[in-house]
Amino acid sequence: MDIKTIGVVGAGTMGNGIAQVCAQAGYHVIMNDREDAFVQRGLSSISKSLGKLAEKGKFSAEERDAIYGRITPSTALEDLSRADLVIEAVFEKLEVKRDVLARLDAICRPETILASNTSSISITKLAAATKRPEKVIGMHFFNPVPIMQLIEIIRALQTSQETFDTIRELSVKLGKTPVAVQDSPGFVTNRVLMPLLNEAMFTLMEGVASAEDIDTAVKLGLNHPMGPLTLADYVGLDVCLDVMEVLHRELGDPKFRPCPLLRKMVDAGYLGRKSGQGFYKY
Ligand code: NAD
Repeated sequence: MDIKTIGVVGAGTMGNGIAQVCAQAGYHVIMNDREDAFVQRGLSSISKSLGKLAEKGKFSAEERDAIYGRITPSTALEDLSRADLVIEAVFEKLEVKRDVLARLDAICRPETILASNTSSISITKLAAATKRPEKVIGMHFFNPVPIMQLIEIIRALQTSQETFDTIRELSVKLGKTPVAVQDSPGFVTNRVLMPLLNEAMFTLMEGVASAEDIDTAVKLGLNHPMGPLTLADYVGLDVCLDVMEVLHRELGDPKFRPCPLLRKMVDAGYLGRKSGQGFYKY
């Protein structure tokens, strides 16, 4: 399928990054959010990011303006009837995503592919909210989208080979490296990362080493760019707990039990960087 126009629903952290990389790759983009203020905030963050890239010499000032010009702001979901592909990046809530996908299903042409940037919700469940389940797929981008190389492409049980092939090809055209993932809790990245962070928390809770020493050991001994407790604070401890609970519940293996210290910290409102206190003070 030939994709020319891409709709993005949700102009937040991920949505505006996705809109930007699609426009940079030459696609026409319709960036939608609930209110104009949210669309404008997304546009201003794209404008800043493009400005920086132009200063670094990634493209000329004319190209920067052309990229920005390919993004059409929207506050009416009906505007997405023109899109060949719509990527949703709305709140991580099953009901919100189901509602958006069902509405898009009614608005978009039958051949339009609907993709979700969810980090934890079952793509199979989301596909079932539409009458085109074979055209629903996961495109899991990483933050910050213009910089991070990976896209996890997640096949729902219902996703067709044609839909998968179209999205894999598109991901390469966006300058990213796609990996093929079956629909499974946490996909690959969070399935591997979160138990690592959780285990670092157990190590701290059991008094094996201090937070600083655990981070130093993993950084220097295992060659990770960031210590696991620093990374957990950056991700948000509430998000870490949510993901561990999903892995534990859905996979049913006790190895995924959330660390009691993590639960206690979330109960205390220590959520990491965003609350000023996590394993470290900010
Ligand atoms: P965010 O809160 O920054 O942005 C969400 C945006 O969606 C908001 O601007 C909100 O107004 C808009 N929105 C909500 N409901 C809407 C609706 N019905 N119609 C139109 N717009 C609507 O959130 P985010 O961090 O960008 O996350 C978005 C999605 O991306 C989530 O599913 C999240 O799990 C996933 N994700 C996030 C990250 C990350 O690091 N932040 C990484 C990968 C995936």
